[in-house]
Amino acid sequence: MKKTILITGGAGFLGSHLCDRFIQEGYLVIAMDNLITGSLENIAHLFKNGQFEFHEHDVSKFIHVPGAVDYVLHFASPASPLDYLKMPIQTMKVGSLGTLNCLGLAKEKGARVLIASTSEVYGDPLVHPQTEDYWGNVNPVGPRGVYDEAKRFQEALTMAYHTYHKMETRIVRIFNTFGPRMRLDDGRVLPAFIGQALRGEPLTAFGDGSQTRSFTYVDDLVEGIYRLLMSDYAYPVNIGNPDEVTINEFGEEILRLTGSASKISYQALPQDDPKQRKPDISLAKKILNWQPQYSRSEGLKITLEYFKTKINQSI
Ligand code: UDP
Repeated sequence: MKKTILITGGAGFLGSHLCDRFIQEGYLVIAMDNLITGSLENIAHLFKNGQFEFHEHDVSKFIHVPGAVDYVLHFASPASPLDYLKMPIQTMKVGSLGTLNCLGLAKEKGARVLIASTSEVYGDPLVHPQTEDYWGNVNPVGPRGVYDEAKRFQEALTMAYHTYHKMETRIVRIFNTFGPRMRLDDGRVLPAFIGQALRGEPLTAFGDGSQTRSFTYVDDLVEGIYRLLMSDYAYPVNIGNPDEVTINEFGEEILRLTGSASKISYQALPQDDPKQRKPDISLAKKILNWQPQYSRSEGLKITLEYFKTKINQSI
């Protein structure tokens, strides 16, 4: 019998890549999405696949799935700062009520659950690089609080189901990830810079561009998630590429890669923007034997081709 996996946010950037991976592994995949930030285009190639089903549904509302479910991956959520500023209540609902519904469904079906947490649980981190045992520095009432606190609540709720109901749960803390199927207009720095470079517009660096991020190529993330799901480790695990760059360096890299004549222009730094971010991945190396295989430049070349096609389609 094929195993069945429910992937919430299955039409999103990460969710759709996870659908592909689990279909490849021979699973029956049920993707669930309310399409507020996800897109059917990301999963259109799967519609004729007999191992794939799509359910349009908001997982903040009760989730009904007939039949057996062996695994649940909870990846539904607005995930870029721009999106969760635009949809603060939905962001909080999907992280809290959505997680509750996923855990409830998994309990009912006897399924193992993996929830998508984030490096945002560390807030504007005072420990660098970030280890899983760092409790973080989050402003609950700032603009990013809706995402950060929903994800922190999500982790706490998941651990409660693990300890109280003895459920099999997994928590991945995802660091900035990129690749094909990101939205050009999601407001994140990588699609913003690539789009601006290709259109010959100035690259909008926020603040003085000295803040850092560490970018992971999506295939590496998917491999880490797969290994974590199959492991027996219930506590949070960082998955990310520790290769850290400043936003200024990153802008220069995008200009070189695209051969664009654009310049970097500076705009106001958003409130509570983390000054530094870099995963400590010792735990993932030790328990999952995982580390990134793609350098940032390899991943960027693949992603650039994707964005070029998207920009051409929109002209
Ligand atoms: N950023 C930027 N220009 C943009 C978008 C973002 O300089 O057009 C900066 C942002 O202030 C942050 C970093 O790039 O310091 C990464 O932002 P992003 O929205 O990609 O994700 P975050 O890591 O903040 O969640």
